[in-house]
Amino acid sequence: MPEVTKTLELRLVNPNAHKERKLCETREAYQQALQAAFDADCTSQSATNDVVVEYDLSGYAKNALKQYVPQLCSGSYDADELHDDHPVKFTNEGVQLDHKPQNALEWYVKIPHHDDYHLWIPAHVNPDQRDWVEAVYAGDAVMGESRLFERDGTWYLHVTATRDVEEQPVASANERTPIGVDIGEASLVTVCHRDESGSPVRPKLWADNGKAVRRLRKTYFTATRRLQKRGSERIAESYGDALWDQIDDVFHCVTREVVEYAESVDNPVLVLEDLTYIRENMDYSVYMNRRLHGWGFAKLYAQIRYKAAEKGIPVETVNPQNTSKACHACGEHGYRPRQATFRCSNDDCWVTEYQADVNGAINIADRYRSGESHRQNDRAPRQKAGDDDSATDGASLTGSQDSHADAEPQQVTHGTNAS
Ligand SMILES: [Zn+2]
Repeated sequence: MPEVTKTLELRLVNPNAHKERKLCETREAYQQALQAAFDADCTSQSATNDVVVEYDLSGYAKNALKQYVPQLCSGSYDADELHDDHPVKFTNEGVQLDHKPQNALEWYVKIPHHDDYHLWIPAHVNPDQRDWVEAVYAGDAVMGESRLFERDGTWYLHVTATRDVEEQPVASANERTPIGVDIGEASLVTVCHRDESGSPVRPKLWADNGKAVRRLRKTYFTATRRLQKRGSERIAESYGDALWDQIDDVFHCVTREVVEYAESVDNPVLVLEDLTYIRENMDYSVYMNRRLHGWGFAKLYAQIRYKAAEKGIPVETVNPQNTSKACHACGEHGYRPRQATFRCSNDDCWVTEYQADVNGAINIADRYRSGESHRQNDRAPRQKAGDDDSATDGASLTGSQDSHADAEPQQVTHGTNAS
């Protein structure tokens, strides 16, 4: 299976004074070690090791230097002096990702400091790389070398990652069978497509999984609120983490089955609603409450994307406007007498009542057919300095405590020795 490698961009969010100092220490020690090994003209790993072993650096940084300096000194680098803005490199496994959807800042990254210590720091991920980050977090992509650097007072971590991506078959848009993917409340995910004669077939709903996720979320809210009232912040956090792991397991199960569904269809294309478009065109809080219900929407999307890519199945997004309001048979707007029921208002339409999520999924699939789709990847990167993770993926549930950041003693913990 073909492998693809990409550099994932993480921006560290406001490290406090203590952590900022630790980052600067790491950078200083790294640059001094690099300079010393360069001056000593170390052309082998062992020669480099003899120099860098003295420095207060993690094994991950030392190992990176052992790989890097011999390349520098073996003639491939013709400068007499090093630039002073070399990024700090870490070998693979030095860096770790953690995801806490319950926090306003969802992603955390573990950065090696020196041998026994590392720092956990909240980070923004590039929204266009969310599928990659999700794959790394799930262990379905492999991390390679990382580079830590600072520009204009902001710290960044660039992480190389490799994953398997199957080549997509060359089929024109009209040869493909669009499979509408609706993510909602009654059913966590609903998929449906039309057969050759145009009839909607094989609707599949993950309603029980939706129930399971709702139950876990409810447990999370009531339990953590109670624990927080008692002042048991730490217990609340680990309890919340455990519940989110369970939700993530449900997500992985469902997204795997969505991709399996697509694999069973000839020339499939998975069609999702474009979340960016929704956010730009709707009142955010209304949308969040009504449709997202605080679920890990972007997490589901990212998992579907990377798992589909592993199987060579294309994923497209469409304008979601009115996909839940319109009737898939006649196009007129209807209404929902109950959450799971769509009723068409057109007296001449054969549809009287229809499963609402299936109706939405067919509309999403049809929108691809009508040519409104566009590739997510064709769009320019949208990450801006002020970008907000919670707005990016709608998975911010409480917007409350940033517990990783508050739990200072947990951030500087004993780590593993890499060397
Ligand atoms: Zn109708």
